[in-house]
Amino acid sequence: MRKSLATGVMGAALLMGSTALAQETFMSIGTGGVTGVYYPAGGAICRLVNRDRAEHGIRCGVESTGGSIFNINAIRSGELEFGVAQSDWQYHAFNGTSRFEENGPFEGLRAVFSLHPEPFTVVARADAGITSFDDLAGKRVNIGNPGSGQRGTMDVVMNAMGWTMDTFAQATELPPAEQSLALCDNNVDAIVYTVGHPSGAIQEATTACDTVLVNVDNDAIRALVEERDYYRMATIPGGMYRGTDEDITTFGVGATFVSSDAVSEEMGYQVARAIFENLDQFRALHPALANLDPAEMVSDGLSAPLHPGAERFFREAGLID
Ligand code: GLU
Repeated sequence: MRKSLATGVMGAALLMGSTALAQETFMSIGTGGVTGVYYPAGGAICRLVNRDRAEHGIRCGVESTGGSIFNINAIRSGELEFGVAQSDWQYHAFNGTSRFEENGPFEGLRAVFSLHPEPFTVVARADAGITSFDDLAGKRVNIGNPGSGQRGTMDVVMNAMGWTMDTFAQATELPPAEQSLALCDNNVDAIVYTVGHPSGAIQEATTACDTVLVNVDNDAIRALVEERDYYRMATIPGGMYRGTDEDITTFGVGATFVSSDAVSEEMGYQVARAIFENLDQFRALHPALANLDPAEMVSDGLSAPLHPGAERFFREAGLID
């Protein structure tokens, strides 16, 4: 854990007779692209944690990153203390499966709580002739940047569909913050983003040019959801974005907040306390967080064990037995 070199300040404070100045401890949260939901959600977490800094001495900072898989790897290597990650990648990291098979199980991965639902979202140009997910074959599609959760999930979906990179006229790997512009500049026909709603990126893509959200519902998708606990069918409500008035059916995962057993019990406790004691404020900080339910947050989509500090807080708060 990084500590600040606050000795000079502390010395001065002691001279002034203050006894309350604790040594600062830093925590960094890995998020995603700035127009996604992870970044503002991480900002909301830090805002609530930092508010009580005088009490606990924790200074929370947010980093924009490549997304879920990057965040989990950075927590594993000790570069980050916390991160946001899709529930499917939390599962695979803890169990050492799929993308995490090569490095083996990350046994020290710890769940803190779960956040908002993340539907697998496909947005197409209105003029591209794409009315269902199957129509992506032969088109120019942004499949996402390596390291992001949505790219990992898209790889799984492509595999289930029997698709490869060659299925598309062109497969691009742009990060989420660049894909709306690419769509509206007509450099791609469709973009894929596993993200909470409403999100800045999808708002951008649906207001800057004429686009439609596409249903992702076929036998291959239904079979995936049937087989794997961490997937479920999901709906993106009609009317949320310009150009799409009907409900969209797709599948989805959940966003989760994760850490590791190398992060102190006290830090995990303070983070859980800051959020759960101020849940109304937390929900108000981003519309994708508005429906969070505490009973679901302590269990849904969490396949790694709870961080011991979060676990202690949830027990004290009567959220778990
Ligand atoms: N689900 C995406 C990922 O894991 C990030 C979405 C967001 O930034 O809100 O990479």
